[in-house]
Amino acid sequence: MSKQTLTFLGRDAGFGNQNNSAYVELNNNRFLLIDCGYTVFNKLKDNFDLLSHYDNVQVVITHLHNDHAGTISHLAACLYFKYNKKITIISKCKHLEELMTITGTPKEAYEIVDHVDDLNLKLIETKHTDYLDAYGFKATINGRNIVYTGDTYTLEPFIPYLEDCDEFYMDTSLNGECHVNIEKALPLLRDLKNKGTDVFLMHLQNKEKIEEITNKEFYTE
Ligand SMILES: [Zn+2]
Ligand SMILES: [Zn+2]
Repeated sequence: MSKQTLTFLGRDAGFGNQNNSAYVELNNNRFLLIDCGYTVFNKLKDNFDLLSHYDNVQVVITHLHNDHAGTISHLAACLYFKYNKKITIISKCKHLEELMTITGTPKEAYEIVDHVDDLNLKLIETKHTDYLDAYGFKATINGRNIVYTGDTYTLEPFIPYLEDCDEFYMDTSLNGECHVNIEKALPLLRDLKNKGTDVFLMHLQNKEKIEEITNKEFYTE
């Protein structure tokens, strides 16, 4: 039986209808969001009243592709101007502050940090495309050790954290150009599953085909 700490707002590949994004509600009226692509702002508006009722909104931004960061400045500006709230962005993206600035988000609307102590959340630098820096992360949430790759074409940087991992969220693709090639990753994923790790596939460009290749051994819903 899997226990899934993160709930997906969407798990489509880059040009899909539901940008890959996930969240978890934490104690003390706190909301942790993973990525804020161009479809995410409207989702938050429709389902969470734009997070306006949370005391503490934290957003991991893995990299600056639009399907991951397309509405982060919009969200920060909205919470600041409409509700007088400041969000925390957890990110090491080199051009994030520049993005916030050129899209008109005042510095008072957000702070950028690179880790979160009480979640043991640490960003893990990886490789996704030549044009952008990209990060995944590991964290311990509600007693579960989580590893989340973000968009990546290699699993190398995450291997040390998979030893003691309860939930592994992995970028998945068929061709493996800028994303993990599912066929190459299969032996590792099966090994993890045998050791008790729940594996969640995300950023799915062709869910049916991925499920066919993996024989539905891993979570895609
Ligand atoms: Zn993406
Ligand atoms: Zn990307």
